[in-house]
Amino acid sequence: MKFATRLVHYDGSPGDPFHPMATPIYQTATFAQERADSFGQYDYTRSGNPTRRVLEDQIAALEGGSRAFCFSSGMAAIANVTHLLKAGDEIVADWDLYGGATRLFGEVLNRSGITVRYVDASEPGRVAAAMTPATRMVYVESPTNPLLRIVDLAAMAEIAHAQGALFCVDSSTMSPYLQNPLSLGADLVVHSATKFLCGHSDVTGGAVVVRDEALAREIYFLQNAEGNALGPFDCFLLLRGLKTLKLRMDAQQKNALLVAAFLAGHAGVPEVHYPGLPTHPGYDVQVRQARGGGAVLSFRAGSAKAATQIAEETKLFRIAVSFGSVNSTISVPLKMSHASTPLELQATRAIPEDLIRLSIGIEDSDELIEDLDTALRAI
Ligand SMILES: *Cc1c(COP(=O)(O)O)cnc(C)c1O
Repeated sequence: MKFATRLVHYDGSPGDPFHPMATPIYQTATFAQERADSFGQYDYTRSGNPTRRVLEDQIAALEGGSRAFCFSSGMAAIANVTHLLKAGDEIVADWDLYGGATRLFGEVLNRSGITVRYVDASEPGRVAAAMTPATRMVYVESPTNPLLRIVDLAAMAEIAHAQGALFCVDSSTMSPYLQNPLSLGADLVVHSATKFLCGHSDVTGGAVVVRDEALAREIYFLQNAEGNALGPFDCFLLLRGLKTLKLRMDAQQKNALLVAAFLAGHAGVPEVHYPGLPTHPGYDVQVRQARGGGAVLSFRAGSAKAATQIAEETKLFRIAVSFGSVNSTISVPLKMSHASTPLELQATRAIPEDLIRLSIGIEDSDELIEDLDTALRAI
């Protein structure tokens, strides 16, 4: 079946005698056992829940994995994969990461003796040069957030595996509709399900997807041991949002390309970052490994003051962190989503203070462009 069909055609209620069209919300903490000395399929919702299992199986299928695991947030999913490592292990990561990931890597993992080294992964040679015998994981996002740089995922997988390290990709900016890192050699894919998987800004959630059975057992062990799985009602909302992933993404991506082209042609905009534009330095790699540029883009406003003014001038773009919703949003990453990045890293990460990030929604594209045009004129 094609992707559009698979989004709505799957068993959403395995074993249910009433065949509901929507997956039931099994809002229960415990499941009664028939016998005292053996468990049924489910015994306790931290360990497993039918609503969550339907969601996990659907995400695994869409991402081309064998198993997926859903967590209470994207950060909980990222924390889960880092717990595969132990003291003395090292992560080599691209420097342009979600601010929360940088915080976790620098201020939490260090407490358990795990070191993270940042490199520019858009140049594979730099990652290869940074690998040491202690490197147990290569960790990247692509496209990166908020600079929309492209990392060659197949090249990263090769470099990681040559060293016997795991390769983990945060694919939140693309969703399984546009990119499938497992098919390019990744061992682990993480998503902030809060973004495109949900699409409606009404759930925080995360997912880890794997192909390898042994890795799946470890991820499940950690999920159950640490108790950060997604609750049944949030799983239901995610299942509902997920059904329209293709419709939303097609509309949002189409709008994003139009907005990017408008900004690229605007005299007041010195720089636009959108991997769907052929002028983007990572365009060729993106065409090879993904199916479009997505619906997130960023551009420079000329000055920090102009960036703040533009964000406040726009009417249809609401000022908000996060991305991937049906609503268009605007943010100044250095002041918002990436404000938690330690100052010494901010210097090396080079996120310009005049950078504006847009997440494009499903609104009318002419009205979105008009809104930006008016805001750009006003400064
Ligand atoms: C938002 C985001 C996260 C964190 O997800 P939460 O659901 O907010 O915890 C991780 N990675 C990327 C790329 C994100 O955009």
